[in-house]
Amino acid sequence: MKRNPANANVRALMERGRLGRDGFLGDDTRTIEDIVAADDATLVAAGVTRAELADLLDELHVAADEALETPRDLYDGKVQVQVTEVMGRISCPFGCGKRAHKAAIQVKAGSLAFVFTPLHAHLIREHGFFQGKGSWFRLEPAELISLYRLCRGTE
Ligand SMILES: [Zn+2]
Repeated sequence: MKRNPANANVRALMERGRLGRDGFLGDDTRTIEDIVAADDATLVAAGVTRAELADLLDELHVAADEALETPRDLYDGKVQVQVTEVMGRISCPFGCGKRAHKAAIQVKAGSLAFVFTPLHAHLIREHGFFQGKGSWFRLEPAELISLYRLCRGTE
């Protein structure tokens, strides 16, 4: 895929220790465009949109917030969420001006277990970005799609 020069800056901001201690790329050496395109193909194949996944993350985040850092069971007990608050805010590395508060939201659903942050819904909705392979906070599209189907009862 053709490389967008503006994304060279974005990539620099995604390195470890710039906007976030752990960065957004892990050990992924692909361009941002290639990372986004590969993940997008997974969504297209599954017939699920970025917005549907982002809406689900927002929903889980709100529900976790309401439980004030205690575990909360959702969707007939199929999913458990728990938020851990962290001080401060983090800027979107794409330079769009979005700043999200920092928090870690743990999700457990059967064999699925992962952590997301309030920035994830924005990154996925607006930029189609699930983070690089090996990134501490990468969300695997296939796992999110499984969670989406579980929560929406469309398995
Ligand atoms: Zn953004």
